[in-house]
Amino acid sequence: MSSYLNPALSSLESYTPGEQPTEMKYIKLNTNESPYPPSPEVLAAVNEKEAALLRLYPDPEGSALKQALADRYNVKKANIFLANGSDEILNFAFLAFAAGGRKAWFPDISYGFYQVFADLYGIPAVKIPLEEDFSVDYKSYCALSDKGGLICIANPNAPTGLTLSLAQIEEVLKANPDKVVLIDEAYVDFGAESALNLTEKYENLLVVQTFSKSRSMAGARFGFAAASPELIEDLEKIKYSTNPYNINRLTMAAAIAALKSGSYFEDNCRKIMEIREYAASELRKSGFSVLPSLANFLFVKSDFIGGEKLYQALKKKGILVRHFEKERICEYNRITIGTQEEMETLLAKIKEILKEDGNE
Ligand SMILES: *Cc1c(COP(=O)(O)O)cnc(C)c1O
Repeated sequence: MSSYLNPALSSLESYTPGEQPTEMKYIKLNTNESPYPPSPEVLAAVNEKEAALLRLYPDPEGSALKQALADRYNVKKANIFLANGSDEILNFAFLAFAAGGRKAWFPDISYGFYQVFADLYGIPAVKIPLEEDFSVDYKSYCALSDKGGLICIANPNAPTGLTLSLAQIEEVLKANPDKVVLIDEAYVDFGAESALNLTEKYENLLVVQTFSKSRSMAGARFGFAAASPELIEDLEKIKYSTNPYNINRLTMAAAIAALKSGSYFEDNCRKIMEIREYAASELRKSGFSVLPSLANFLFVKSDFIGGEKLYQALKKKGILVRHFEKERICEYNRITIGTQEEMETLLAKIKEILKEDGNE
């Protein structure tokens, strides 16, 4: 740290991304990427002709991409905001709807970035503990006494994979007309129900989705939000005050192509859901507690081996999963769903580890 840094930032604890190793080839089940490549249409769109156009700025409005999303999700262009990954939308939402003396509410166990954005903007963060079974305590969000601010709920939640129903989300929306309710749907395509079309009914609802997981485009950095035109306008104001060209040309072309890929991505999601159920049932047979996930990962705890120990042992055997140090979840690991073959390797290695450890 230099002596020039804004003192307000000196104690900021930044987000720690999952490992992206370069030194060795691991089976990567640690950052919830898709095991499948982007669709053939996406690969074709990111071509030499498009690359030659990189001398030009991209369309700052992203008009064609907004239209493609509006068509796909049955909303208007004015309901759509485009971003450089959904992380950028979270960033803008904390700045727009909580900074300046208001609070942010989110679960104690959820996506780690929420706390980072709250800290970055000096926003008091109220962390509402998950229930004993790790489900989101939605009733507590319906009984907040403060006016204004931002409620942020990942649905399905990470790293648990557990989901609230749309009826429960509607209760939160109705109880908080003075707050923005952000529903982070990074994993919604793996079996949960999206709140996207509730944006017509609730002007305080901000739905955030990403192409990083279900659409195999984590490297392209593209996410979008759907909301009332007024909320979208607020986000646009911040975008045009920071980085009007936030979506690069190649990503724009890739995202448009992704939306014209027929059922390619839906088929991939279906495969991942099937593999998830297979892996969950095999893990249960090996003595794991497995939360009922509707995401592309499983959150699991062994009756026989500690969370940190299993993480380390798997890493030694060439498999990366995600382990969190937080006390309440440190006996768990979050395992991304890979291909059937990758999951079979994982299950075999876990059996080896348990044997070596003197169990089974
Ligand atoms: C992966 C993830 C994101 C970030 O997605 P990007 O679009 O890659 O920035 C946001 N929220 C949750 C809950 C995630 O798991």
